[in-house]
Amino acid sequence: MRVAIGGFGAESNAFSVESPVTKVKDFLSGKQLISENFGKRNVIGGFLDVLTEDKIEVVPVLRVWCGATGIIAEDVYEQFKSMMVTRIREAGSLDGLLFDLHGAMVAEDTLDAEGFLLKELRDELGGEIPIIAVLDIHGNITDLKVEGLMPFYREKLGKLPMWVEQQF
Ligand SMILES: [Zn+2]
Repeated sequence: MRVAIGGFGAESNAFSVESPVTKVKDFLSGKQLISENFGKRNVIGGFLDVLTEDKIEVVPVLRVWCGATGIIAEDVYEQFKSMMVTRIREAGSLDGLLFDLHGAMVAEDTLDAEGFLLKELRDELGGEIPIIAVLDIHGNITDLKVEGLMPFYREKLGKLPMWVEQQF
């Protein structure tokens, strides 16, 4: 079994008067995504914990975090969204995607930035492969996000969400 891990998030304040954000706070890619998070009590560390415990092959993609900030410049959003989709396409056969989102990312021209990202990933992976996303409690839950994630939580509730529940 092969499961990809990654993330793309921002905590956007859409009322910010600052210029759109063009720099990201954190960018981890490939094996660095594993080495920097293994054993840590963060979202990616939790993914790695349960996947390695069950001897599931981890396919590290990338994680981009823009921080608690204003809206994201559209070209920056498009650049990383495209990078994420391309790497998922190139990852080969996958059995799932575990995704560290935040749920409150807004780009200049794309209010539901994570929703459209999930739509493109769902189109890429097809309808049957589970996409699991961790969102902040105050994340904006849109129809587009739910559509991207639904095949997992509707039909395949299992060990991973149980682990998350135990942390609270
Ligand atoms: Zn938050």
